[in-house]
Amino acid sequence: MIKVAIAGARGRMGQEAVQAIQKTTDIEIVAVLDYKHDGLYLDQEQVNTHEVGWPIYTSFDQLVAAKKPDVLLDLTTPDAVFTNMHDAIKQGVRPVVGTSGLQIEEIKQLTDFAKEQEIGGIIAPNFSIGAVLMMKFSAMAARFLEDIEIIELHHDQKVDAPSGTAMKTVEMITDVRKAHQQGHPDEEEKLKGARGADIEGMKIHSVRLPGLLAHQEVLLGGEGELLTLRHDSFNRGSFMSGVLMSIRQVMMQKELIYGLENIIE
Ligand code: NAP
Repeated sequence: MIKVAIAGARGRMGQEAVQAIQKTTDIEIVAVLDYKHDGLYLDQEQVNTHEVGWPIYTSFDQLVAAKKPDVLLDLTTPDAVFTNMHDAIKQGVRPVVGTSGLQIEEIKQLTDFAKEQEIGGIIAPNFSIGAVLMMKFSAMAARFLEDIEIIELHHDQKVDAPSGTAMKTVEMITDVRKAHQQGHPDEEEKLKGARGADIEGMKIHSVRLPGLLAHQEVLLGGEGELLTLRHDSFNRGSFMSGVLMSIRQVMMQKELIYGLENIIE
């Protein structure tokens, strides 16, 4: 049985993950890490004063001492994720992280720390298998069609932009695409931000609207042609096969893996 502690279990992704884990026979939730409700219990989304559900800890050290989890699943916020991951690696608990907002420099730091501590971990900017394939296909196509714009679309409660998925897509594309300016050399924005964010000449546009969940289009233009790669997550269930796969896979990893494309071959 793989023992998992969940940070962010009261949240939308956390709730979905709790339900998905409960349906498995090889993964067990042992505790919840939170910044409040210390000493209480979480049962589905309900916080209880009596012993129903999993114990909530605000101290990771105390959680580890009492429950000895194998894995910390982090589905929290950009503010909390770095510290949670650092604490997990320090305590020998393998982090599986879906939270967005980690900076490239922070990921490097955590990768080095995991290596030093000889512990595996997974950061998944997107747990959806379809989205990971979309990223892989984009990098494959970028070798041939080098003028690229990314449009990522999310619900209006998302706090960070661009999305972790867009940043990861960019990183995979920049590995194979030579940096170059796109569009007209003299183009001028009449309205600030009209051309989106720029990374090595590629443009990224972030759309935030109610009704959306998580969507991304990668547009690759060539002379007289356009290739559009699009992925849509219609509900949070789309992320759960990746969450469960990561929890199982992390037990076999010896280093910090950034992106599920590295374990889906
Ligand atoms: P959410 O509903 O806001 O849930 C986040 C939860 O974390 C909230 O319950 C929040 O508590 C709690 N929290 C905040 N700080 C914490 C801390 N220090 N320790 C423990 N819990 C803490 O957000 P969501 O939609 O579930 O998304 C969670 C994260 O996953 C976001 O970063 C999102 O971008 C990311 N995400 C990733 C994927 C993927 O495939 N990788 C997919 C979807 C979303 P309060 O409510 O009290 O603030």
